[in-house]
Amino acid sequence: MATISKAETDEVKARHQLSAIIGRTVKLRKAGNEYVGLCPYHSEKSPSFRVNDSKGLFHCFGCGASGDIFKYLMDIEGLSFREAFAALADAANLPTVDPKQRQQQARAETADRAAAILSAQAQWHDARTIRGTPAELYLRSRGIMGDMPPTIRFARVPAWKNPKTGADGPALPALIAACQNRAGKIVGVQRIFLTKEGTKASMANPKLSLGQVRGCALRLGPIAPHIILCEGPEDGLTLRQKHPRASVWVSLGTGAMPHIELPDVIRRVTIAGDNNAPGRLAAETASAAFIEQGREVQAIYPPRKFADWNDELMGVLA
Ligand SMILES: [Zn+2]
Repeated sequence: MATISKAETDEVKARHQLSAIIGRTVKLRKAGNEYVGLCPYHSEKSPSFRVNDSKGLFHCFGCGASGDIFKYLMDIEGLSFREAFAALADAANLPTVDPKQRQQQARAETADRAAAILSAQAQWHDARTIRGTPAELYLRSRGIMGDMPPTIRFARVPAWKNPKTGADGPALPALIAACQNRAGKIVGVQRIFLTKEGTKASMANPKLSLGQVRGCALRLGPIAPHIILCEGPEDGLTLRQKHPRASVWVSLGTGAMPHIELPDVIRRVTIAGDNNAPGRLAAETASAAFIEQGREVQAIYPPRKFADWNDELMGVLA
């Protein structure tokens, strides 16, 4: 039997739209440049499985499963590599794509990402200390007192853009958290949109990121040989208050934790996980990733009756 060359597999991959293949077995919905759905690799209730047609890759932020069209057909549809190749090579009835169109789409996505990083940097630049702002009221209402690290700021920023006109929506008060990449450069922000009274804004999701977040962290303390790592800014600020001598970093999202690119100086990571199932799964996946990088890892959780660290603080206060 003749072996199948890389050029041949690349050629069949380029002809197919990954979302169309996966869409036969998983219900997908469009989300920005990608598609999302419930992960076929693990059991979940809210979708964390993403499919990117221009890259030809899928990735699950819940369980970490990832791969290309071949991996999907072999894992989920149970085909051998040769069967998958044959199915793709003569699947005349499957929707196919023009490579030029795919290249154009990939270029447009790269440009979108670069523009989003610039907007995030501009929002960060224009933001100021939280003293006397709704962001301070919000944090106080969550039991977080004392001085804030310089990576937490306040600004009034538009929560959305009109997708048709590109015009900004109205500016809303927001707590702005800096996302720094491995080199320490601010390349993204996470905004928690607030009312002027300091409660969360009534939006479907008042926590929105802009720019690059993947691989980055919100640093509530300096680079140190040992850090505490958690999922959200409120938990991070709670842990910082509880352990004033420790350096606390935040992954800004459950699924993001295993993908943080940590500077080499950090040798030991205490993962402070959330108590729910996705939180524990993310902590386990992150542990494995950091151990693989030669770091020492320990995972801690709040007492069972509290969902996360801020709930524990608030429960204790109550
Ligand atoms: Zn999954």
